[in-house]
Amino acid sequence: MELKDTYKHKGMRKSLVRKLREKGISNERVLDAIGKVPRHWFFDEIFVEHAYQDKAFPIAEGQTISQPYTVAFQTDLLEAKPGKRILEIGTGSGYQACVLVENGVDLVTIEYKEKLSKLAQKMLKFMGYSPRFIIGDGSLGYDKFAPYDGIIVTAGAPTVPKALIDQLKPGGHLVIPVGNRTTQKMLRLTKQLDGRITKEEYSNFSFVPLLGDEGWKK
Ligand code: SAM
Repeated sequence: MELKDTYKHKGMRKSLVRKLREKGISNERVLDAIGKVPRHWFFDEIFVEHAYQDKAFPIAEGQTISQPYTVAFQTDLLEAKPGKRILEIGTGSGYQACVLVENGVDLVTIEYKEKLSKLAQKMLKFMGYSPRFIIGDGSLGYDKFAPYDGIIVTAGAPTVPKALIDQLKPGGHLVIPVGNRTTQKMLRLTKQLDGRITKEEYSNFSFVPLLGDEGWKK
């Protein structure tokens, strides 16, 4: 498929940004990033006309590209800012990774499924983004580049993996959906400067399961 980004696509992105504002997203850096990244490039041809709906859609390997509202909500909670080192767990299509890089962060993104990571690597290289891509079990975090200013988990976890708390810097946030296999509450855990962990709870979301040692067992 030839990758074009026409005035029509740009117009659809503007409407999407307007919709996200109406739904309560007010972080201008996050909205600018959503307005910039061509989401339709991450879609299979059969779904491409739906790329600017505020919905999650299927990608390869039975996984999903997250809903734009969810991407914006998590990125805002994370306080993604230029210069911050962020770990994303669940590269998936690579769309959320682009939004994070557009927010100026130094990104490490880890994906369990090799095929998805390879597809995302190819696309992001074409788009001129260069986060560090890791293939592996993100339920254990990724110690090599820790500690992180923020960790974002884009799959639903049964519990909060301890390794993710350990790999956070003091002052850092862990944004993670936790619940059962179909519905999760979005949590933001913050490692305070004195080491205490505080928790804020947001509304329900629906993610594919976080697999792995500290996730769901298949
Ligand atoms: N951020 C993605 C995007 O923008 O397209 C959406 C990710 S999708 C909702 C969740 C992803 O998490 C899937 O690609 C899945 O393979 C991945 N995943 C599940 N368990 C994982 C684990 N333990 N480590 C890393 N990735 C995992």
